[in-house]
Amino acid sequence: MTQEELFKKLVAHCKEYGFVFPSSEIYDGLAAVYDYGQNGVELKNNIKRYWWDSMVKLHENIVGLDAAIFMHPRTWEASGHLGAFNDPLIDNRDSKKRYRADVLIEEWLAKQDEKIEKEVEKARKRFGEAFDEAKYRETSPRVTETAARRDAVHARFAEAMNANDLAELRQIILDCEIVCPVSGTRNWTEVRQFNLMFSTQIGSVADGANTIYLRPETAQGIFVNFLNVQKTGRMKIPFGIAQIGKAFRNEIVARQFIFRMREFEQMEMQFFVRPGTEMEWWRRWRDLRMAWHCALGFGDANYRFHDHEKLAHYANAATDIEYAFPFGFKEVEGIHSRTDFDLGNHQKFSGRKMQYFDPETGESYVPYVVETSIGVDRMFLQVMSAAYCEEPLDGGDVRTVLRLPAALAPVKAAVLPLVKKDGMPEIAQRIVNDLKYDFNVVYDEKDSVGKRYRRQDAIGTPFCITVDGDTASDGMVTVRHRDSMQQERVAIDRLRAMIEEECSFRKLFRKIEL
Ligand code: ATP
Repeated sequence: MTQEELFKKLVAHCKEYGFVFPSSEIYDGLAAVYDYGQNGVELKNNIKRYWWDSMVKLHENIVGLDAAIFMHPRTWEASGHLGAFNDPLIDNRDSKKRYRADVLIEEWLAKQDEKIEKEVEKARKRFGEAFDEAKYRETSPRVTETAARRDAVHARFAEAMNANDLAELRQIILDCEIVCPVSGTRNWTEVRQFNLMFSTQIGSVADGANTIYLRPETAQGIFVNFLNVQKTGRMKIPFGIAQIGKAFRNEIVARQFIFRMREFEQMEMQFFVRPGTEMEWWRRWRDLRMAWHCALGFGDANYRFHDHEKLAHYANAATDIEYAFPFGFKEVEGIHSRTDFDLGNHQKFSGRKMQYFDPETGESYVPYVVETSIGVDRMFLQVMSAAYCEEPLDGGDVRTVLRLPAALAPVKAAVLPLVKKDGMPEIAQRIVNDLKYDFNVVYDEKDSVGKRYRRQDAIGTPFCITVDGDTASDGMVTVRHRDSMQQERVAIDRLRAMIEEECSFRKLFRKIEL
């Protein structure tokens, strides 16, 4: 199965099993907007809980916030979003398709890297044991020529992005002979800037309506509340404020399912530090966030850091954590050192002091900020891509199983009476009623037990608990484990402890306390 086919199957699976539906589907959907179904909302809530607790519960010096989506319009002048939150877009005249110029070039660069890796792999096979990889990379003309070309384009690209040189971006696209994937031609328009913020009106027109914006990031709600939280919470620097909430971006090219949406959710934490200590904290948060991802057990080799080519208008250091999606390594989270850009500008635009008095040094200053910013939906897609598995079984059958970490699974256990008689449904129902206060459990009596197992595998349920003819007399049930498919007899009064042990977040948290 190719990665493309795998991705298509994943999207179909998300719909078939109630994880993700296209928005307003009966009207043929709305581009890049999606709804979460009965299982999707549970998984999403668990991802949010994993993040929230790892920030707010595990760190004494991080507290939460829930700011409004609408903010005073001056916020977006101060933050720089009105002037600079743009993407460079380019159209292909033949296909009439629109692309982000920077993404076209980044994809071209990634292709050159792939070419080099393919050459190295081919050589490794050819030379066998005697292969000296470092020497080959240095001396093979095919590798060195591709690498030199790649590096030259990379340097031009970084310079053009930093200088906002749109003509140069177009020239790079022409020079690299990048074609439109739809029409296959190089008939490109000029590159134009496009602001990503959605706007609407507040108040009636007669009253003199004002344009306001749907927030493109949640961070500004944290900055404008910095002093409220610091003072009322008596917070001492360094400290952090965490928030989960909706953000909106009028993305030019919305592709790859919930990877790039127009309405999405962010989990952001702004960490306020003494100026001069920001690089140390930035490195610390990079490591902590990577550990948070790796703790899920999807394989450390599937994650990597990617430093930014162009630092955003507010940042002095920035890296992304990327995951190997079926469509390549892509950003899941950004860790940015934002300096005092935001607080400093809010101070300027609002006329209010945004300073912190440091009792240890006796000075007042505008704190520096290190932010960690991750999209809930992108994390959801990452988890689904990693967990989705088609597993061949003895006898030629294939089962589809979501190997979700138990703490994230939408349903923790399904309770199944073997048959719909002889008191089995009643016992199964009693077990559900007992477990439901602690876990999300379901009761299922329809179809054969084998079919019921498959349904639960497909949504990632870690345990299936079967009540059979002996249960009434011996007080035992058969527990079937999702990944190993092993079965064991377990006493009913041990079920809670067993599920708790496997599904609690404790196991994950222990791995990330660096
Ligand atoms: P990209 O380069 O992919 O456009 P970005 O660098 O603009 O992303 P940030 O502004 O750093 O993204 O946003 C932080 C996080 O929010 C991203 O790592 C991603 O997980 C998420 N995110 C950003 N834009 C979207 C979107 N349109 N849909 C879903 N998630 C998003």
